[in-house]
Amino acid sequence: MSLEEIKNKLENLEKQAVAEIAQVNDSSGLEIVRVQYLGKKGELTAVLRGLGDLSENERPVIGKLSNEIKNCLAKKIASREQELKDQHEAVSLANLKVDLTLPGEVLTQGSIHPISEVMAEICAIFNRLNFAVVEGPEIETDYYNFEALNFPPDHPARDMQDTFFIEDKVLLRTHTSPVQVRVFEKQKPPVKIIVPGKVYRHDADVSHSPMFHQVEGFLVDEGVTFADLKGVLTLFIKEMFGEQLATRFRPSFFPFTEPSAEVDMSCFACQGAGCQVCKNSGWIEILGAGMIDPAVFKYVKYNPEKYTGFAFGMGVERIAMLKYGIDNISLFYENDLRFLKQF
Ligand SMILES: [Zn+2]
Repeated sequence: MSLEEIKNKLENLEKQAVAEIAQVNDSSGLEIVRVQYLGKKGELTAVLRGLGDLSENERPVIGKLSNEIKNCLAKKIASREQELKDQHEAVSLANLKVDLTLPGEVLTQGSIHPISEVMAEICAIFNRLNFAVVEGPEIETDYYNFEALNFPPDHPARDMQDTFFIEDKVLLRTHTSPVQVRVFEKQKPPVKIIVPGKVYRHDADVSHSPMFHQVEGFLVDEGVTFADLKGVLTLFIKEMFGEQLATRFRPSFFPFTEPSAEVDMSCFACQGAGCQVCKNSGWIEILGAGMIDPAVFKYVKYNPEKYTGFAFGMGVERIAMLKYGIDNISLFYENDLRFLKQF
């Protein structure tokens, strides 16, 4: 073949390929065309094999031309491919029917656990009275949990049946009171602290759980009296349960307070007339409290002649049960969403 013949052949091949590319309607058809013209065994390659007859001067001319054709065809194939893709997308969008009247997907909203909520509410009331929130360790030593709180060595609370011991003298705290001692060790009066947290006791029935929550509070300064304790707790009960409620202080005993009291409030359900909630007594026991025993101050080197203070503690579960009318403490820990969603 002469140079002119090969040129013509290549140009005809190009025209033919361009026409075919334009006619192809999907990407697999396009691939067939690509292989047919540009593949290793394709028509363009076949033409180039017949260059043997050409002179040294003529070969580069054909080499250049065939490269140009190759590039041109590759570009046309790519642009046709994009065209087909765009067409396909346009068609599927046109076929896509969106029903705007369908209800959307509703995401379920989480809620704060009733125990956390009540705990936060209790802390908020005391925050307004300028009590600072402090937390302490749940794993305690016998010293902080019992000894420094004036529990005698033979006190029944130390018994294996009440306390979870981890090892000798190390235990899960049975109350939040150890934090009192920890704060007193670090801080000189005045101290005005509220301590929320988990506590552990060997106890389980409808109103007791081996793990439960307490909020403990204490105030130490010069000249603090039982009247201050009554004032603070009466205000707390009114804020938490209702302005109209009466409070009652009954003598009691705790190793770390003297004198000690159980604090009752008049029943919010029957206003004192007697009902199921108050077991017909008209009163509901809500708190334990008292003046901090001078023996506790001696452990932390506070001068009991100079300082006096009060302490009080309450069970968060008990308050939540009263507030929401829940009769089984285990409901708080079962993570049943039907229960939790009510709060
Ligand atoms: Zn009642």
